[in-house]
Amino acid sequence: MPVNALPHGLCRDCLTPAQTASRRCRSCGSPRMLAHAELENLFLAHIDCDAFYAAVEKRDNPELRDRPVIIGGGKRGVVSTACYIARINGVRSAMPMFKALEACPEAVVIKPDMEKYVRVGRQVRSMMEALTPMVEPLSIDEAFLDLSGTEKLHGAPPAMVLARFARQVEEEVGITVSVGLSYCKFLAKVASDLDKPRGFSVIGKSEAFSFLSRQPVTLIWGVGKAFTATLARDGLHTIGQLQTMERNDLMRRYGTMGDRLYHLSRGMDERSVKPRSEAKSVSSETTFNVDLSRAEDLVPVLRALSERVSARLKKADIAGRTIVLKLKTTDFRIRTRNRQLGDPTRLADRIFHTGLDLLKREIDGTRFRLLGIGVSDLTDAAKADPPDLVDRLSHKRALAEGAMDSLREKFGKQAVETGYTFGHGKAGQPQRDGDD
Ligand SMILES: [Mg+2]
Repeated sequence: MPVNALPHGLCRDCLTPAQTASRRCRSCGSPRMLAHAELENLFLAHIDCDAFYAAVEKRDNPELRDRPVIIGGGKRGVVSTACYIARINGVRSAMPMFKALEACPEAVVIKPDMEKYVRVGRQVRSMMEALTPMVEPLSIDEAFLDLSGTEKLHGAPPAMVLARFARQVEEEVGITVSVGLSYCKFLAKVASDLDKPRGFSVIGKSEAFSFLSRQPVTLIWGVGKAFTATLARDGLHTIGQLQTMERNDLMRRYGTMGDRLYHLSRGMDERSVKPRSEAKSVSSETTFNVDLSRAEDLVPVLRALSERVSARLKKADIAGRTIVLKLKTTDFRIRTRNRQLGDPTRLADRIFHTGLDLLKREIDGTRFRLLGIGVSDLTDAAKADPPDLVDRLSHKRALAEGAMDSLREKFGKQAVETGYTFGHGKAGQPQRDGDD
């Protein structure tokens, strides 16, 4: 790029290309101009919906528009998402609810409606997939996109395609997204966070090194609390400091993580976008009012959570193949245990019994403050729980569950309560945990 070349640019409102560095669009007057010398050469994007759950709720209830909204709940629950008005008042994700309400007493608290968010997330996802098959979801509301080689298809470079996409999501879905555009995953993700909400940030190759030098080490992928403390003990606080260090030195000190520090601090990230056909998981978890360690206390909770997950799967008409158990110990360590099933399921009973198998191995006197169960590897429900492949016992259970579902539909959730009895007919399980 010659030094005096005008940067490639465009207007994010009217999408007019602009070979200019002017602050306002000459076509529509909008100040939302995007310009960067490398704009035509960058193709790796990270797209992240802005305050996703809260944005969906505001979309569906315009009265909430100008009010602080917190998605979350429960006595010892935490904030899942806070809208930007609540954030201005000091509310943060993962903050305990009582603290959030101290900071922002006038906040409207809404219980999460996961089926709805999954639905909206899928709508956004399929709009992404219309841009490129190279979409790698990171969660329900964010994904990496590799737009290389799509210029002919779209008749426009990635930056224009992405600006068009952001506008389309606002118009068709009614929520906003932020876009980060760069040449690698690490910096695309960093960029999408720079200018939220409704942001569009570009980090090119030319400024990557100097941009990174001013950032804290915590910006680097995988540098969490504990590792940040380790680095701080060694006097390392900024990425700029890492940029002055030799690779061998970093690797000798920190092993493979040292290698990562070396490369990412210099903006070198070779990871490619790996498309996944289906997104994350449907899960449900509970933080206890008192810490629990005994099977008879934990199992009923697992049963209730399994029912909740199953109900969501059924409502969204999806099923999942991997059961994920999550436990959090009193010192906030998280244990997750997975098991893949032969076929996807959406039955509470299969979710519960698989989760139970996993849970039993973790019951060793450890006190837990949280229990969760989830289902991932989601697919549509058509392939779920084939009767000929499910053993006879569980087939009976599946039929019984179908009957209970229809009763629930008729008479409401409370109409049918299952007993927590389990373990019948299984070898090596003499005890009957959890009958309450
Ligand atoms: Mg988000």
